[in-house]
Amino acid sequence: MPGDEIRVGQGFDIHPFSDDPARPLVLGGVTFPEGPGLAGHSDADVVAHAVTDALLGAAGLGDIGQHFPDDDPAWEGADSIDLLGRAVTDVRAAGWQPQNVDCTVVLEAPKLAPHRDAMCERLSAAVGAPVTIKGKRAEGLGALGRSEGVACLAVALVTGARP
Ligand SMILES: [Zn+2]
Repeated sequence: MPGDEIRVGQGFDIHPFSDDPARPLVLGGVTFPEGPGLAGHSDADVVAHAVTDALLGAAGLGDIGQHFPDDDPAWEGADSIDLLGRAVTDVRAAGWQPQNVDCTVVLEAPKLAPHRDAMCERLSAAVGAPVTIKGKRAEGLGALGRSEGVACLAVALVTGARP
């Protein structure tokens, strides 16, 4: 794409599992039948949050906490796919087009594979570009290895005209 600027952004997020067994586990916009869910102000969708930060970072628009503060009651229990969609609107308004996002989700359990296609579809629809996901176990090491939470790393590429 001659004349286009290319920017890359990274995102990272981590949430502990909730003590509330009734809280649903939402990853990449997909509600898993396995619980418990992750603790957090919104639906605690760690994958959607990392993707959001990667895109905001690529566009030079700060981070998810600046856009959707976790002390703002407006975002309590928020659908993080909706927040991601709002962030993508801001990214596009700033002149940047998402090209793709690639994620690594670090967790011991539950298994990601049965839900991976659905997660990629939901995230890709929200971003308007391909979002791919890889699952990775922490091999028993540290808090993630003890299944105390889930982490996600994401990298995003955006293109746009030179500002
Ligand atoms: Zn988060």
